[in-house]
Amino acid sequence: MERLFAGWGFDAIHARRLLRWYYDSSGEVDLHRPARQHHALPKALVACIEKDLPLSSTHVVRISEASDGTVKLLVSTHDGALVESVLMPDFRPDRAAGCISTQVGCAMACDFCATGLQGFSRNLSAGEIVEQFLHLKRDAKRLSRRLSTIVLMGMGEPLLNLENVVKAIGLMASDEAGHLGWRQITLSTVGLVPQLRQFVDLRLNVQLALSLHAPDDETRKRIIPMARRYRIADLLELAQEHQANTGRVTTIQYCLLEGVNDSDDHARALATLLAGRQMHVNLLTYNSTGQPYRASSPQRVDAFINILRDHRLVAHTRRSRGDQIAAACGQLTATKA
Ligand code: SF4
Repeated sequence: MERLFAGWGFDAIHARRLLRWYYDSSGEVDLHRPARQHHALPKALVACIEKDLPLSSTHVVRISEASDGTVKLLVSTHDGALVESVLMPDFRPDRAAGCISTQVGCAMACDFCATGLQGFSRNLSAGEIVEQFLHLKRDAKRLSRRLSTIVLMGMGEPLLNLENVVKAIGLMASDEAGHLGWRQITLSTVGLVPQLRQFVDLRLNVQLALSLHAPDDETRKRIIPMARRYRIADLLELAQEHQANTGRVTTIQYCLLEGVNDSDDHARALATLLAGRQMHVNLLTYNSTGQPYRASSPQRVDAFINILRDHRLVAHTRRSRGDQIAAACGQLTATKA
């Protein structure tokens, strides 16, 4: 924008002003509107912006709201691809958390995930990722909340679109643009060793969530195809390195599936695996995706978490949200029907 503005004969400083104002104001994705409202900009510059600066490339096609307050946005891209973003109200009445997609579909084919069943179409650009953030920001404002955290956990595997994801994280986090802050952003991955290596080497000061879902490679291979290529031990070493580099505690995500990974033995194996690593365990509820799995019973979940805590691990259960509108973990399919 600086180059563009200078080329039009205006002071490049206006680019920085406009961008800051644009991100801060309302999350409006239409750049023209803030330009028109930004009285500090010369009128002739506003006219140039309206004529020649490309508009945003995505728009919200549908907003679904669940009775638990979860909001799901169906977002259409310039080529008609559809992705979903989710807004979850925080327990604090003025805050909300956002979940953003990084790819159209997903190639990982995790057995318990509806997105994985769809297959992969394409990567999202950095702009398409950031625009979801802006759509969510605007929707949070509509609900009198502030979008305070983002997790890259929607459709897709972020590490397979690392270049665009890193660009988008920088824009959402930085003071000059999204103003969210680095540690308010979590990258969630199923774990691919080469790409995780690259991510760790970048030393981004963001949170890392590793979707483990099993305490041993054999169990993991049953539900995550990618586990046939990469060992849990290697993933944990890299997560540990990120933790050491950034001081951010890694979250281990573990979706409890009845009869698959939820026995006392699995819990003890997980405790042994994580002993001394100071990582936190997040136990997730399986949300129905049409696959032949069932969520573990509340008694099983309690028994599992108690074993982890007896082994001095920090473990929590995460309340499932948005199931009513297919917006919960593993349910995003971005269909118009
Ligand atoms: S769980 Fe994540 S990585 Fe696995 S298929 Fe679903 S979207 Fe892809």
